[in-house]
Amino acid sequence: MGVQETKIYPINTGWLEGDLGTYIFWKGPAGKKYWNPVYSYYIDTGEHKILVDTGLPDEARATKYHHKCQKRGCLQVHEHLEKKLGVHPDEIDAIVFTHLHWDHVQNIKEFKNARYIAPKGEIDVAHNPLPLYYRTYECGIPGIEPAYTGCVFEAVEEESEVLPGITMFHTPGHSVGHMAVTVATSMGDIVIAGDAIFVERNLEPNPSEMWRHWVPARFVNSWQGWQSVEEIDKRADYVLPCHDEIANARSDVYPYEGMPIRNRRQPIPGYKFYFGDMPAGMADKAAPAMTRQEAEAHIAGLKDPKDMAEY
Ligand SMILES: [Zn+2]
Repeated sequence: MGVQETKIYPINTGWLEGDLGTYIFWKGPAGKKYWNPVYSYYIDTGEHKILVDTGLPDEARATKYHHKCQKRGCLQVHEHLEKKLGVHPDEIDAIVFTHLHWDHVQNIKEFKNARYIAPKGEIDVAHNPLPLYYRTYECGIPGIEPAYTGCVFEAVEEESEVLPGITMFHTPGHSVGHMAVTVATSMGDIVIAGDAIFVERNLEPNPSEMWRHWVPARFVNSWQGWQSVEEIDKRADYVLPCHDEIANARSDVYPYEGMPIRNRRQPIPGYKFYFGDMPAGMADKAAPAMTRQEAEAHIAGLKDPKDMAEY
């Protein structure tokens, strides 16, 4: 039991329309729309059955109060678990939340035996959001009640291993208390990034601005948000962002044979890291710098966000 057996199963709970410029990429092509999936994750460690986030509600509720939503045949998280993975909701021991935004917390009361584990900073703001974020937390607007009303959360204040092999670490910026989740697996550390990045492309450069990372545009704090992107780059051998179709759909289960392993914190000539070095004890995990030639080929091969627009 443990690291060798640990498997992660991405669950797509539906699709939201997002703007490539005001949401997915800072200085991205504003006005261009992109359909992004909303994933939650089932993790089986052999010892524990865990969810990370619980995703979207039904299409009508999502579209009425939030963004344009399509389910396209996607099930609610508890239905997907039972019908597609053969796991009864009562078997889930714990739900770990990256943050408590509306598209990450639905249906949590379906899991009667689960502990609810969430960042302390998120629990605090979710119950008393800044008015700007009433809708984001579904708290403070008439006619709708947050999915977590009446639920008791276990608050996580410091980076910690909350279950064996499952570590939460601070990645604020998208929201006040956001934490990403590292899952130790037989092929290295898989980081479930929540919304600290939206797509893997956020970790690669923006060549027109000379940014080492093309960071997302949806931040409550851009300084912290940038630092969190660097933090994920330092720690992840593979990244599962909650809104990335490509990263989540390469396989039904992670890790898998042939999974592309990232280069952690790889220097690219001409592009600067802004925040500190690798965390203590991890210096040897950083990839060697690209040569100028490698960098040119790498940058030329990157997708431009405007080519991600769907209409
Ligand atoms: Zn989200």
